[in-house]
Amino acid sequence: MEDCIFCKIARGDLPCFKIFEDDRVLAFGDINPLSKGHSLVIPKAHAENLWEIPDEDLFAVHRASRRVSSAIKEVLGFAGVACLQLNGREVNQVVMHYHLHLIPRVRGGASLPVCQWEQAGGNMDEIGKISAEIASAVAKQAG
Ligand code: 5GP
Ligand code: ZN
Repeated sequence: MEDCIFCKIARGDLPCFKIFEDDRVLAFGDINPLSKGHSLVIPKAHAENLWEIPDEDLFAVHRASRRVSSAIKEVLGFAGVACLQLNGREVNQVVMHYHLHLIPRVRGGASLPVCQWEQAGGNMDEIGKISAEIASAVAKQAG
């Protein structure tokens, strides 16, 4: 994609702090890190989101994320890593090229805002109803 910033990075037309690459995938440091070591893993081929990305690229991104997050752990000795992937402007996806955030929390570091929400007990009837509706939609899908 001509104007896509991550396509430009994948092509080498824009610089990045490269961490890892293979045929399908590129990993690099996020320039607005939420925490030290915050990295992104992208497919080299443009796909906007989870519905567009081909299975092979999806697998390659997540396989690379395991490798890169192990390396982050080795370097930072983190306590945990949040893997975050947004789909749609409504949920704050800003760069419309599939990317997986690897956001580490180092030992003793501040807790990550993306991992904090109040655990309020849900309405079991509602959860049951919506789960059944989704299950029936899943069952109707091909493959
Ligand atoms: P999202 O689309 O999931 O909300 O986040 C996009 C992410 O891409 C942000 O964390 C932002 O800092 C990062 N980002 C945007 N432009 C660039 C860039 O040119 N280089 C790098 N390394 N990261 C970028
Ligand atoms: Zn792109």
